[in-house]
Amino acid sequence: MNYRSTRGQSDQVLAAEAILRGLAPDGGLYVPELFPILSVSELISLKKANYQERAFRIMRLFLPEFSEPELKNCISAAYNHNTFDDPAVAPLKQLTSDVHILELWHGPTSAFKDMALQMLPRLHMVSVTKAVQTQGTVILVATSGDTGKAALEGFKNVDGTQIIVFYPQDGVSEVQKQQMLTQEGSNVFVVGVLGNFDDAQTGVKQIFNDQEMIGLLAEAGLTMSSANSINWGRLLPQIVYYISAYVDLMSDDQINNQMPVNFTVPTGNFGNILAAYYASRMGIPVHKLICASNSNNVLTDFLHTGEYNRQRDFFQTISPSMDILISSNLERLLYELTDHDTTRVSGWMHNLNQAGYYTVDAPVLKQLHQLFEADFCDDSKTLQTIREVWNQEQYLLDTHTAVAFQVYQNYRKFSGDTTPTVIVSTASPFKFTHSVARAVLSSEQIAEAGNEFDLINTLAKITDQPVPLPLCNLDQKPILHSSVCQKTEMADTVLKLLGLIS
Ligand SMILES: *Cc1c(COP(=O)(O)O)cnc(C)c1O
Repeated sequence: MNYRSTRGQSDQVLAAEAILRGLAPDGGLYVPELFPILSVSELISLKKANYQERAFRIMRLFLPEFSEPELKNCISAAYNHNTFDDPAVAPLKQLTSDVHILELWHGPTSAFKDMALQMLPRLHMVSVTKAVQTQGTVILVATSGDTGKAALEGFKNVDGTQIIVFYPQDGVSEVQKQQMLTQEGSNVFVVGVLGNFDDAQTGVKQIFNDQEMIGLLAEAGLTMSSANSINWGRLLPQIVYYISAYVDLMSDDQINNQMPVNFTVPTGNFGNILAAYYASRMGIPVHKLICASNSNNVLTDFLHTGEYNRQRDFFQTISPSMDILISSNLERLLYELTDHDTTRVSGWMHNLNQAGYYTVDAPVLKQLHQLFEADFCDDSKTLQTIREVWNQEQYLLDTHTAVAFQVYQNYRKFSGDTTPTVIVSTASPFKFTHSVARAVLSSEQIAEAGNEFDLINTLAKITDQPVPLPLCNLDQKPILHSSVCQKTEMADTVLKLLGLIS
């Protein structure tokens, strides 16, 4: 299987090369040349398989040059009882008769990024043995909070790699920041950027395209790669849980074979929902993909009008992992919807870079409207949703999942659509304790807790919900990282941390 760039100006490569590079040299994203179709009988045969086996049978279709033991080792190292606290890995919980919650936060950092970032470093290590280049790799990451920690956990002490994570200094939650600043590992660096997530992401993208940086690192025997959701090695593991959720619905007799379902996805960089689209391309019957945003609702507007315009106010919300105005993975969807028209895709991305917006044509918009629904939910509605679902169902939603839940409820009300629906749950409620506590505790109860870490215990006690192990005693861990830089200093910071300049 070959991988091509969405911009059409780079050579096609094998999966290993795509995973090692992250971004294609022409600035585009790597996409598989085709999507293998799973037949109904293959889906039925997955019913008896556990999550690891399902992952193997799906991922091998995209990684033909990985041997069976190589891929199986990657999967068992990523998803096991040490890394995930639920044997189902991505359990599907029934909320009401036709609404199910897909819990993707049972991994080491309590957010869904673990699903991908436990796999990527293992895929990376195997890829190094297959590719032309055998140098050391510097993984650069821009994070809105959850990716950073998950990437650090995935790559810590992985031979031949160093990882540098940039996070917006004032744009992540207290728990997220503490998780990153206490990160252990001999090859890890964490840096706060004085700016927002888009500044950090733009800075990292510039470094990847900076010929001088590439040259300086090459002299030191290093190449750069990305653990952001633009890396194919992150998207691929995400396809698995959509297929797995569908198979679970079939197994529980919630749906008949070939009956369509909806997926509602709290969306930021468009990686998670793109994986749902890819699962539909592989034969999972999908009625609607419902794209849920917070007040940074650039995707809602885009999916309604066809104009993507990032020139708008940026809001810091209580669902910070979705505080994004440039959703990079949308480029991959446009590539598919234009039938691989790299000229048009490049033009739009050029406009986005230069002018801050682009508008897709009517045929593309029509396809978007056929499959996608989109809406957004502001902070006060998000809190209200957490409170209502807790009171009615005794299910505690985190802020991101609550955005998705509210958007779904609205959609259901105005459309009357009762198709069985999976709400994708992307974080443990304890990862965003401060906001969740505001929704379900009284102000006295909150005031009694001294800080966010005490509040975790208060929330756990009052709701009688278990705190995920990675979030226990976080405040007692030593701070190991303290670097901060301006958004214009990111390249120099990389060189300094690697010891290439002083
Ligand atoms: C990253 C993240 C999202 C957004 O996912 P995308 O793939 O960027 O669309 C949503 N919720 C949580 C908790 C996240 O960490």
